[in-house]
Amino acid sequence: MLLSAQAYTLESCETNISGNTPEFFQKYFQCVDASLSESGNYINLYYTGLAPYESWYYPDGDPNHIDYVSQGEGYFQIPGAYITEYDYVVSIPVDPEARPNLTIDGDAVDGEVGTSNFEYPMGSVGSALNGVNMFNPCASPPDIIEDESYSFDYYSGHPAGPSGIYHYHTTSKGPLEVLEYKGLIETPTVGSGEIEMYGIMCDGVVVMGCTELDGTAPNSSDWDAQNGHIHNMVDEEGISIFEDRYHTHVCYDEITEDDTDGNGYQEHEFTPEISFYRTPGMGQNHNRCRAMSSPIEDDMVVLGSEITPTEFALYQNYPNPFNPTTTIDYDLTRGGSIDLTIFDLMGRRIRTLVHGNQKPGFKSVIWDATDDFARPVSAGLYFYKLETLHRSFTKKMLLLK
Ligand SMILES: [Zn+2]
Ligand SMILES: [Zn+2]
Repeated sequence: MLLSAQAYTLESCETNISGNTPEFFQKYFQCVDASLSESGNYINLYYTGLAPYESWYYPDGDPNHIDYVSQGEGYFQIPGAYITEYDYVVSIPVDPEARPNLTIDGDAVDGEVGTSNFEYPMGSVGSALNGVNMFNPCASPPDIIEDESYSFDYYSGHPAGPSGIYHYHTTSKGPLEVLEYKGLIETPTVGSGEIEMYGIMCDGVVVMGCTELDGTAPNSSDWDAQNGHIHNMVDEEGISIFEDRYHTHVCYDEITEDDTDGNGYQEHEFTPEISFYRTPGMGQNHNRCRAMSSPIEDDMVVLGSEITPTEFALYQNYPNPFNPTTTIDYDLTRGGSIDLTIFDLMGRRIRTLVHGNQKPGFKSVIWDATDDFARPVSAGLYFYKLETLHRSFTKKMLLLK
């Protein structure tokens, strides 16, 4: 039988998790390849981003395709958006290192993109237990996640626009079906009270539901603003899976700004937003970890390493608003001629930050608005534009005085 004629399921997908990877990956993952890097410092988790269940985001004629069914008023199917297969790898540190002096409070966890240095970038920043992408829990501006959720399928997933990456921002029964398949739970229902785990982020943060790994209720008195805390994670048989591991509990299935657990923060249905651990190989000042086309090699754990991003991207500047300096990150999947320019509201070019040939990689540029040897820059709204031969992206930023 042709592979394409066969439905992609938890049973038919390929799973290849080598015996030298930590217990966590062997026990809970399906439809992925995982192996330890040569030094033993990283788990390289390879996955295709395909969803092992039916979805109306599979193209017509695909064995996994089902017809769209509205889930209520306001729901829609993103036109022309389909689940596509990609090759991803995310290199997850075996012993992640906490960022020093990091406070995860209500200011940092605000549901908005570009307001903190340590947010996960937009894009694929982790893997669910079934090999589906996990995104930053926020929506790409100017969208908001509350609206975006109306385009989710039955599994709370959707592609990032036409030919975009299929992903979750939040809880999904998809990973719970893996736990059911492995005989760890009986009902793959979000909020069922059994073990609820969704996946792992690129920096090593584990995303849980509203139970601990042994099925007990978590102690919410020590949660930070994204329902995260640190403790040993022990499974239902008493086996230690992680020691002192930061993880978040996605504990609510309705969007609300209430604080029903009384921990002083509003509930966050979409977590984590802030990366607790230092990012492997990508610098220490901000967070750039994400799925890539090739793994982080052990001898390349340096700033500006040569690993190639999987997506061409321009990120929201941070901080934003700013005064007087801000950082603009972008990822180049291939080398070539690059222009990064700043325009004012009238469309006048006021600065050229980058002009010339660059190699592929993760790039970062700092703009100091007081570098006004050319022309003073006043407070207000500006646009920054990244252009290559083939594509361009533009984003807004706000300079305060
Ligand atoms: Zn999305
Ligand atoms: Zn916990």
